[in-house]
Amino acid sequence: MNFIIQYSIVSFILFIVVILYNLRVRKLANFQNNVFLLYCYLGMFSNAFDLLRCIVSLKALTLSPVILILINILYYLTICTVPICFLMYCFAVVNFFHIRNNIPSKFFFILFPFGAVLIYLLISTFFQDPFYSVFYVKEGTALIENGKLGYLLIYINALCYGLGGMEVVVHYRKYLEKGVVEHLLVTVSLIAGTLVAQFIFPYARVLSIALSMSTLDLSLYIQRSEGVYDTAANCLNKNGFKLYIEHLFIRHSRFFIFPIVMDDASFYRTALGDKEKANLESCIIGALKSNFRRRNCSVYKLKFGSYALIVRNTKKTNPDAVLKFIKDQIGLRWGFSALELRLSFRVCEIDSLTDVKNYLEVSDLIDYLETNKKFFGQIIKASSMDLLRVHSHSYLENAIRKGLKENRFEVYYQPIYNVKEKKLTGAEALIRLRDDDGNFVSPEEFIPVAEHNGTIFEIGKFVFTTVCKDLSSINLSLYNLEKVDINLSVIQCIQEDMYKQLIAIRNQFNIPASYINIEITETATTNSPDVLLTNMKNLEADGIELSLDDYGSGNSNIAYILNLPFKMIKIDKGIVWKAFEDERVHVALESSMDMINALGLTILAEGVETEEQAKHLQELGCDYLQGYFYSRPLPIEGFLEIMKK
Ligand code: C2E
Ligand code: CA
Ligand code: CA
Repeated sequence: MNFIIQYSIVSFILFIVVILYNLRVRKLANFQNNVFLLYCYLGMFSNAFDLLRCIVSLKALTLSPVILILINILYYLTICTVPICFLMYCFAVVNFFHIRNNIPSKFFFILFPFGAVLIYLLISTFFQDPFYSVFYVKEGTALIENGKLGYLLIYINALCYGLGGMEVVVHYRKYLEKGVVEHLLVTVSLIAGTLVAQFIFPYARVLSIALSMSTLDLSLYIQRSEGVYDTAANCLNKNGFKLYIEHLFIRHSRFFIFPIVMDDASFYRTALGDKEKANLESCIIGALKSNFRRRNCSVYKLKFGSYALIVRNTKKTNPDAVLKFIKDQIGLRWGFSALELRLSFRVCEIDSLTDVKNYLEVSDLIDYLETNKKFFGQIIKASSMDLLRVHSHSYLENAIRKGLKENRFEVYYQPIYNVKEKKLTGAEALIRLRDDDGNFVSPEEFIPVAEHNGTIFEIGKFVFTTVCKDLSSINLSLYNLEKVDINLSVIQCIQEDMYKQLIAIRNQFNIPASYINIEITETATTNSPDVLLTNMKNLEADGIELSLDDYGSGNSNIAYILNLPFKMIKIDKGIVWKAFEDERVHVALESSMDMINALGLTILAEGVETEEQAKHLQELGCDYLQGYFYSRPLPIEGFLEIMKK
């Protein structure tokens, strides 16, 4: 009986299509993608040898048995490698080596079934017994026959690795996207089914079609490139960046990362239209790509204005030259549409061997580079940066997490001087946090991080609750305390129903609303005015007063003062200090204060450090003064000591 080779031909074509598609979209040479491509190649070759085997067996009588046996060996070799490659693919999909962070020594035992089958395959050529031989040439007809035991071995091999692969994906399914497990299960069951079918009908080559179809399915479902590729910018995205760096760390290969950050990117992000931004980015990325075409280089877009180049270390790699080249290329004038821009960038060189240990550290470093104006227009080596500060993001996150878990947060109070009554009558509550070594971590550093990761809600609630608790635990009539100011973060202010939570806490401790004043910074007022206004109106209706904090530090906007229900304006310490050095600032401060006074609002000046400042600010018409001249922020006991009547 002849083989039905049509299935083989179709599946061979399918394999070619899948491979071509994957070569095109395989933007990221990480472990998963490499293994998948290898899987496709092995599938294609086993398919090709199978086809060849079927064709030559028609002419077996005229061919030398050596050729027949050679083709057979090649077929069995490749078809037995496919399952082990599938298992490796399953390991790659669940990111096993990253989760484990090493290759366990027992891991190599998985090669055992494959090794055993391989040895058997090779020696079985010498058996001419139809049962023991995997394949043999039947005397007389010269047709290749397959022995039953050989078949069985191959199936056992496939079964071991197929089930092994399933065990891996099911075990680590929580790391997988929904649907991935199903697609891998389909692959295994499809192949298992056709193996049985082919055992019964050896002349129908259905295994190859099952293999190629399931490969196509994996290619379209699991291997699709959207996750790692930014199609608009035509380069790999931040996710691809992360995956590739993790891959390189696991392989312990040395590489260089060159983050390229546009100076004033946030300005251009809002100033330019979408089309102009897309044009600009395609110019930048195009320039990088055309200059770094080599196989060991890849270009990434992390976000608008932030790009990166990864260069794997080879004998020819010269990081200094790359750095200079990027700088020259990128410092050019950028002309497109009707615009011509002179942009400047900061470029950094990160050496995987000396500067960073994992992706988190890379990400910290890039964060630091992106947010620090002092690097504008510079070429910097990571080794020359203060790496302790660079990794401050993870240090701060860690400090916050521990702080919340181990109750390391405290509230300090800084007294506020009342000019009319000539005594201290109020305070500002300021959060304090200590790290592992007992040192204070500045709120200016950790508050932005807490806003970023959402822990600010818990921190904000803690501060508000602590102030209410402290107030409820003292006999207020013994102290000159009229009001405590509490800072609200930008993020808290734009949270719907924020006011309900605060009012509930106030009620829980029975604190009169008149004792509480809430400070909101100017930057907060530029965000989401609707929610903010609702929150503010409700707090005001409850009787809680509101202050505008840090007035004069950012883009001062009279509209805030006019539209939002503030009772007090707190002048930022920066502007207070400058007014004593610069006459023009003094003029501005004086007339701002006149305006605020005329609007019937009260004024507080922050950062009062000297008697001279205190005197002059009083003359200018400040109602309240706050600063080290009166007192530094103190723990509750020390603060109450000062406030005793
Ligand atoms: P802020 O609201 O402007 O608070 C005033 C800051 O100025 C405090 O710094 C205070 O210690 C400092 N300061 C007061 N008088 C003087 C002075 O005479 N000279 C100098 N050099 N500094 C003075 P601190 O406590 O480090 O807080 C920094 C910022 O962190 C605060 O600025 C506020 O924006 C934020 N923050 C503090 N506590 C909280 C909080 O509970 N919640 C929120 N959301 N933010 C807070
Ligand atoms: Ca404040
Ligand atoms: Ca302030």
